Amino acid sequence: MKPDTPNLDIPFYQPAGDEVDIFQHAWKNRLPLLIKGPTGCGKTRFVSHMAARLGLPLYTVACHDDLTASDLVGRHLIGDGKTMWCDGPLTRAVREGGICYLDEVVEARKDTTVVLHPLADDRRVLPIDRTGELLEAPPSFMLVVSYNPGYQNLLKGMKPSTRQRFVSLRFDFPRPEQEEAVLIGETACAPDLAKRLVAIANALRALKDRDLEEAASTRLLVYTALLVKDGMDPVAASRVGIVESLTDDADVAEGLMEVVAATF
Ligand code: ADP
Repeated sequence: MKPDTPNLDIPFYQPAGDEVDIFQHAWKNRLPLLIKGPTGCGKTRFVSHMAARLGLPLYTVACHDDLTASDLVGRHLIGDGKTMWCDGPLTRAVREGGICYLDEVVEARKDTTVVLHPLADDRRVLPIDRTGELLEAPPSFMLVVSYNPGYQNLLKGMKPSTRQRFVSLRFDFPRPEQEEAVLIGETACAPDLAKRLVAIANALRALKDRDLEEAASTRLLVYTALLVKDGMDPVAASRVGIVESLTDDADVAEGLMEVVAATF
């Protein structure tokens, strides 16, 4: 597996507050970081931006409920009649002194997250049971995890013993002027389009909890801006870029389209 950031180009990231500073303080002090916030609000982009800024290799793992400790740490593979050890992304990040980013960490099984414990406290070691190695993390290694508190249910919350090993940063959707800057930075769209899309998103976000499971994400606004820039009618682009991605209920969708139509 290759790091996600093979070159030193720094991905665009529009800060919302002092998160860049906080990340640097945590990294310098060898502290692991937990980022919580709704889907599509910039958590992954922030981590890739910081990795590039600090010149560190980044290994990203999208967690799911079948993820095993071996998927993170590594496994023996058979090839050419021989058995070879193959590092997983977590082990790679530790060996290279990079960043390992576990996205939606609460999706991973509890026994999987336990492998993180000795790395996420002051021991900073990764025991590899299968090979008998005990890897000591170099100073530049950083563990970053994220999750969306909105998806949490009783079974899926993070164990306090895991959670209390991290410095925790809360993300939310950016303020309107910042979200407009994200859209312009990402898509080079007209400022007026950015303003209208952000206005739609905020009107729809106000409806969340009533009709919608999830709020309109910045990611969906980026998609819609790209479609409009490519010549699509803004109302049609908002339907496929925003509304239909938020709900399967046709009546709710029509209600949301009224908000769109009132904006364009
Ligand atoms: P998350 O990891 O929180 O689900 P992402 O980081 O993948 O969300 O963000 C989704 C998309 O939204 C990104 O690919 C990017 O286009 C855009 N985006 C969101 N927030 C920002 C930001 N602050 N700066 C730059 N792009 C952003």
